[in-house]
Amino acid sequence: DQGRAKAPVPTDRPAHVKRVLAVASGKGGVGKSTVAVNLAAALARSGLSVGILDADVYGPSLPTMLGLSGQPAYEDGAIVPHTAHGLKAMSVGLLTKSDDAMIWRGPMASQAITQMLTQTRWGTEDAPLDVLVVDLPPGTGDVQLTLIQKTPLDGAVIVSTPQEVALADARRAHTLFQRVKTPTLGLIENMSGDVFGRGGAEAEAGRLGVDYLGDLPLDASLRQAGDAGAPLAEGEIAARFDAVAAKVAQKL
Ligand code: ADP
Repeated sequence: DQGRAKAPVPTDRPAHVKRVLAVASGKGGVGKSTVAVNLAAALARSGLSVGILDADVYGPSLPTMLGLSGQPAYEDGAIVPHTAHGLKAMSVGLLTKSDDAMIWRGPMASQAITQMLTQTRWGTEDAPLDVLVVDLPPGTGDVQLTLIQKTPLDGAVIVSTPQEVALADARRAHTLFQRVKTPTLGLIENMSGDVFGRGGAEAEAGRLGVDYLGDLPLDASLRQAGDAGAPLAEGEIAARFDAVAAKVAQKL
């Protein structure tokens, strides 16, 4: 696709942030935010300083998943991120009243995200943030393209369920990242198991020539943790996230 517009090089790198990692999905409801939050928590458990930016303009779920509320404070012209479960956190959901219907058009959405990315005090000169995880809106449309063109991403993780319909969308997400020269660090299979099948994402990763980062089963404790506003801190599923985090940290 040589004829396509070249992606502009993003100039808006957040200050004092070493690496920016996108968590993406081709479809909604596949567990992208669940993975983003629990992966961020696992990266933090490994000793890194970690922030998470909820850029999902269609349905920001970070306030629920991390138990955040209240508008962020401003200090010296910068947004002070919330701190929750050892993570610095900001969400588009904190910028609007919770029940407001959020109808963002592409330019508006990307402007809001760029602002949260660059004007939030994620780190300081003395204590830079190691990794900023960005929970992208699901899908592969114009909003997503504008966003990833403007956001300086060092790598992306794509979440999919095992079914072909979801995998086709994961392929599109990978293509979108290729267009902006952001490396896809790998695919994660979520909701893996009896209901949706198993192994689809691993096979797809092989076809795309990207790494397979592992699978997560449908698990009640994972859903409950999300609803209760805390990432999983221990147990088998947390250990799976630790394994994914180790692979991601190595590649980023
Ligand atoms: P997305 O960000 O892709 O829209 P979410 O992370 O919000 O998806 O997940 C959608 C719903 O599914 C949430 O209620 C979440 O708790 C639940 N969920 C996600 N992954 C799992 C899983 N592996 N096991 C059980 N519930 C899950």
